[in-house]
Amino acid sequence: MLDVRTCASLSEAAGILSGDRQAMLIGGGTLVMRDVNEGRLTEGTLVRVTDPAYRQMSVSGARVELGAGVTMAMVLASRELAYLHAPARGIGGPAIRTMATIGGNLFAATPYGDFTVALLALDAQVVLQAGYGSGRAMPLEDFLAGRERGGQGLVTAVQFSRPQNPSELFFRKIARVKPKGISVLSIAAHLPSSSGRVAQARVAYGAMAPLPMRARGVERVLEGKALDQPAIQAAKQAALEGCRPATDAIASEWYRREILPVHLGRLLAGEPR
Ligand SMILES: Cc1cc2nc3c(=O)[nH]c(=O)nc-3n(C[C@H](O)[C@H](O)[C@H](O)COP(=O)(O)OP(=O)(O)OC[C@H]3O[C@@H](n4cnc5c(N)ncnc54)[C@H](O)[C@@H]3O)c2cc1C
Repeated sequence: MLDVRTCASLSEAAGILSGDRQAMLIGGGTLVMRDVNEGRLTEGTLVRVTDPAYRQMSVSGARVELGAGVTMAMVLASRELAYLHAPARGIGGPAIRTMATIGGNLFAATPYGDFTVALLALDAQVVLQAGYGSGRAMPLEDFLAGRERGGQGLVTAVQFSRPQNPSELFFRKIARVKPKGISVLSIAAHLPSSSGRVAQARVAYGAMAPLPMRARGVERVLEGKALDQPAIQAAKQAALEGCRPATDAIASEWYRREILPVHLGRLLAGEPR
């Protein structure tokens, strides 16, 4: 039987999740409720959080913090988060975006997870709370690496440094069905520049590996370079380093490998798709 518990505080929810292996948080429920409705999830406790902190956004300072319960629609309604509108808009249709949370996106299996790809390019940290204790922050990449092992507890928020120049954050979702299709792949790149040269590039992909991943080869070749044709060519050559895309109902591994360098090159050159 499925039970639903509503928690007025994040620590109450974290306590239930860490004390009961069959308990599961329900965010917007776009994935959880599909499992319930289709009979894959029939046992355990669904934990709902009504704590206002779960949906809180702190967006104007140098350090941005978004509660895990913030939805894609809330991101789209915030002018200060305009640099995250492209990944938020890329998720499902309007009904899904009204429910889909940032926290849920961190757990969504590939090829979902488009918003998480943008957070990787922003070098985000995930704030986790296990049990009734206080939260701890860990790099998103480490969180994703441990995600499949489970048992990480409740994600309460994500944090990242606000991009100094929002126009230096780029995002592209490549889908066959527009505008609501699932990703063939997605690319996010944060390319801050200093004196016309890329400094501390962060590039991330979705659907190019079992988890959203950093494109370290691309970051390496762009570092310290002007974004000119030779640098873009070098980035395209390094594009597939570390990639392990799957063949699924959306696209074959071969197709993903073929088109990634093309779309990366266009993104870096500021060209339309
Ligand atoms: C029609 C449709 C289209 C979609 N299109 C896209 C798309 O284009 N791109 C995309 O990325 N995704 C897409 N999705 C998948 C999904 O809607 C999103 O990934 C969404 O962000 C998931 O968030 P949620 O709050 O609904 O997650 P839920 O369904 O509530 O939860 C998903 C999982 O995350 C866990 N979880 C959620 N929040 C927390 C938390 N704070 N702490 C710990 N565990 C947590 C839950 O326990 C569960 O295991 C689509 C889904 C549907 C049904």
